[in-house]
Amino acid sequence: MVAKQDGPTGPSAGVVEELLNRTARIATDWLASLDRRPVGESASVDELRARLGGPLPTGPVDPLVVVEELARAAEPGLVAIPSGRYFGFVIGGGLPAAVAADWLTSVWDQCPGFYACGPAASVAEEVAGGWVRELLGLPRTASFAFVTGCQMAHLTCLAAARHQVLRGLGWDVEQRGLAGAPPVRVLLGARRHVSVDRALRFLGIGRDSVRVVPADTDGRIEVPALRRELAVEDVPAIVCAQAGEVNTGAVDDLAGVADAAREAGAWLHVDGAFGLWAAASPAFRHLVAGAERADSWAFDAHKWLNVPYDSGLAFCAHPDAHRAAMTATAGYLVQGGPGHPRDAMDWTPAFSRRARGFAVYAALRSLGRQGVAELVERTCGHARTFAAGLAAVPGCQVLNEVVLNQVLFRFGDDRTTDQVLRRVVDSGEAWMSGTTVGAGRAIRMSVSNWQTSDRDIARALAAVQAAAVGVGRG
Ligand SMILES: *Cc1c(COP(=O)(O)O)cnc(C)c1O
Repeated sequence: MVAKQDGPTGPSAGVVEELLNRTARIATDWLASLDRRPVGESASVDELRARLGGPLPTGPVDPLVVVEELARAAEPGLVAIPSGRYFGFVIGGGLPAAVAADWLTSVWDQCPGFYACGPAASVAEEVAGGWVRELLGLPRTASFAFVTGCQMAHLTCLAAARHQVLRGLGWDVEQRGLAGAPPVRVLLGARRHVSVDRALRFLGIGRDSVRVVPADTDGRIEVPALRRELAVEDVPAIVCAQAGEVNTGAVDDLAGVADAAREAGAWLHVDGAFGLWAAASPAFRHLVAGAERADSWAFDAHKWLNVPYDSGLAFCAHPDAHRAAMTATAGYLVQGGPGHPRDAMDWTPAFSRRARGFAVYAALRSLGRQGVAELVERTCGHARTFAAGLAAVPGCQVLNEVVLNQVLFRFGDDRTTDQVLRRVVDSGEAWMSGTTVGAGRAIRMSVSNWQTSDRDIARALAAVQAAAVGVGRG
């Protein structure tokens, strides 16, 4: 945004200042309302269309009016995701330093695909990437990319895996593509996240190349079955393991998987979307032991690290493969060369992109090593307290072993379970989501927000209790 003094083409500097100050006020008012407002939205889709819709204006509208009316119109359709009482999916909040750095990211409007388009943004990514590597115990030489989320991190990592595995067979996939390429197989646990399949699909690796390995009730891949499957064919393999199953939080036996993958000469990729952050806590690190032996790792900053959407990270133990799979160049670009330490374009699937490193940098710096460990430990503690509280709720059955921040529970049958969930969400006291697992319909609760307090957990438990009693009464 260029603020010109009395400029002919836009608002004056004074107007821009008033706009941004007013916006900050709208933002802080909303944050201040989180504790009292219902967590879910209060407007229907028709109401929201009516509030936000209408014809595209013919001429300009005062920016202050635009923003004030947008905020007013959107308000009843906002879900209080930053609230400590939001437990849906696996969704974090925004640490204050990360939110503020994210605002600056928009104002600075750097485009760090290339060092030349954002030197400070590039270096912030370099520093933050190094911090993450150290914090999670990943190899010092691992390369990395800041991407939109774990889905795109999978794409990045699995493109590197595809490059490496095919190169081992004398096939240059970047040159020759996949048509006529030697076969590659991908071994996935039965309870992997669907984003892995989609990343493979984008990479031209279809379902026929996938071998599904059974998993236990909480979703951990069965290592003996993985070994058997690896031994079936003498075809190069990519193995995907998981740290943090989306419903249960279960973590694969990563050391066992790493042994099996190494013996078979396979590439090991870890989906650690949220669970890999357990490595930052001395109390939970043992759960992900062996993760450091993988070849690539995909995870999120927007979930457990509480960086605002969107923010994901891809790390790769083989920088040459990573770079070969991602890099692109053209005559007009200013890549590499002296004084160009790192061009993100060489490592990400994106061309122009948001300077995501600033918010991750701010999150990590504001928490410090200890703060990240405490965030993991506190949220896992809340999940355990919640699960223990459920034991006192009539008819409630906790389905998972609560190893991390996820609780999965159910009430007798599918219908009752869905009714209880509906009532909890309608109460506005807490927001959770449903799922279907082996036992049938279930309610999943994820404590991923830095703000969730003991009181929030007590309110959520009271809401579940009231819903269960209400359903029991019909
Ligand atoms: C959320 C999640 C993903 C996908 O991450 P996005 O950031 O939404 O792309 C992948 N794997 C697991 C285990 C997840 O929980």
